[in-house]
Amino acid sequence: MLYIARADYSEVRSAIEAGLESCGFDPGSKRILIKPNIVNAHAPEVGATTHPALIEALIDHFGGDRCIIAESCVVGVDTDETFRKSGLLELASKHGAELLNLQKVSRAPVNWAFGEIQLPTMLRDCAYINLAKMKTHILTGATLCLKNQKGMLINSDKMRFHRLGLDKAIPALYDVLKPDLAIIDAIWALEGEGPGKFGERKDLGLLLFGNDALELDNLAIQIMGLETDEVRHVLPVPLSEIHGVPLEDVRTEFKRSKGYYKKVNMFYFPCGACSGCSNAISETVKGLLKEPWRHPLKVAKFILNGIIGKRIFLAGIEAAYPHVKGRTICIGDCSKRFADREKLPHVKGCPPKARDILRNL
Ligand code: SF4
Repeated sequence: MLYIARADYSEVRSAIEAGLESCGFDPGSKRILIKPNIVNAHAPEVGATTHPALIEALIDHFGGDRCIIAESCVVGVDTDETFRKSGLLELASKHGAELLNLQKVSRAPVNWAFGEIQLPTMLRDCAYINLAKMKTHILTGATLCLKNQKGMLINSDKMRFHRLGLDKAIPALYDVLKPDLAIIDAIWALEGEGPGKFGERKDLGLLLFGNDALELDNLAIQIMGLETDEVRHVLPVPLSEIHGVPLEDVRTEFKRSKGYYKKVNMFYFPCGACSGCSNAISETVKGLLKEPWRHPLKVAKFILNGIIGKRIFLAGIEAAYPHVKGRTICIGDCSKRFADREKLPHVKGCPPKARDILRNL
């Protein structure tokens, strides 16, 4: 069952009620595990994170003492700090809901296509709602419900996913972990250089519901105007009956990601890298521009390079020369083989340290 609702953050309760009813969601006496997409402490207005109004509407429906909000941010971002900065901590305590950092919960090994994976034991006893966000993604084309499940993993498994290849690892995780209900927040979606602050908010005013997360992701891909081969971790499946707003009324066209980030004269090509390397680059550039007097020579070189050349950062297991030419530096252990083969400067570490990257600027 699929359900499309029009909604606004100032009044989401009725759309949530209608979606739960339409999907016949019945958790019995189980506690409700809500897994939002709070990858980083972005303000809701950025459009990169599940809006707190939706979490609050679910808590209102089920009761605070019955709800667990569980999340772990991307590698390199402190989840507890993000809970504080994003207002999630305040929201949970206001309603008496439990807020769990998924890096700290008890886990048990589960067999999957690549051996064993550690999953939270609480999944056995809870009704699990995957509350994802509709966004484009620099590596995977889009991030929806299946990709949101990566937040269930410990950091070492998240990094392993990138080495295995996200297009294989994400569907394999779905084989052993399926939500009882999937919801996609597309009231404010994100297009372009998602999944974070480099993307552009796209206001669709939609909430999507489904019993089957794979089917719901397929529906979202159609709404975004993407081809199935642009989002290879979501295997194409036929859609069942759609209730609510007709699909033809909500189809649109999202701007695709170009596959790299650009700031002044710096280009970063993730080449399959996880957020550990991406955050290290971001911290380096932030540090350099925030306190330029601490690194006057580096800043001077940085500006000069802006006039006469380009600086290219490559990370990830799929590191390769991009179409942009410039002084190229490989960062992170995943890109070492390419750096050695091409005799390029390399910054070691998994994730690499910002100060080591700075030294190479
Ligand atoms: S080297 Fe970078 S991309 Fe590779 S796993 Fe470590 S942090 Fe992630």
